[in-house]
Amino acid sequence: MYLKSIEVHGFKSFANKIVLEFHDGITGIVGPNGSGKSNVADAVRWVLGEQSAKQLRGSRMEDVIFSGTQTRKPLGYAYVALTMDNSDHKLPIEFDEVIVARRVYRSGESEYLINGATCRLRDVQELFLDTGIGKEGYSIIGQGQIDKILSGKPEDRRELFDEAAGIVKFKRRKYAAEKNLEEEKLNLARITDITKEIE
Ligand code: ATP
Repeated sequence: MYLKSIEVHGFKSFANKIVLEFHDGITGIVGPNGSGKSNVADAVRWVLGEQSAKQLRGSRMEDVIFSGTQTRKPLGYAYVALTMDNSDHKLPIEFDEVIVARRVYRSGESEYLINGATCRLRDVQELFLDTGIGKEGYSIIGQGQIDKILSGKPEDRRELFDEAAGIVKFKRRKYAAEKNLEEEKLNLARITDITKEIE
């Protein structure tokens, strides 16, 4: 599995639709200060479900939409799509190519899409669970993040290892099962009380 391309339209400084293609090996993005290099990384984070405007270096989510320049009007929406090569089927979906996209309008309306079909943020998160690619994954290392990891709490570091070991999805399922069990125990207690009252 690898990232084949990113399509960006109306996201931050990218008013025009652009497609960046990636190939095997290392790709470097170079350009003058302020030309939008970090905006490419922000676009990847955003499409993977980043909910914090601060993490995207803005103050409101609307800040990700192209806000215009002296010569160009602001746009009404931002759209980013990641195309992943999935011929090794590391992503648990039958397609050899997976396109994950996110769109947001100034009205606040937003949607996620997987291969063109509307889906929930949770579906995007689950698709990338244990691949290291999610927004909490280790595949996007921001400036200063290495220091944070090294000096962070052991529990926080453990999360990274869990993700790399591929056990996050089992932990989540265990948590959901324990929650259900707790609810069922409460239901059972109520039923026992009611039965006693009736008897
Ligand atoms: P550096 O090398 O200094 O880190 P960079 O190439 O990483 O810079 P970015 O930080 O990605 O540059 O881009 C910053 C540019 O993006 C700024 O010119 C800023 O005005 C522009 N920008 C950010 N958000 C928007 C937006 N919503 N609409 C239009 N332009 C935006």
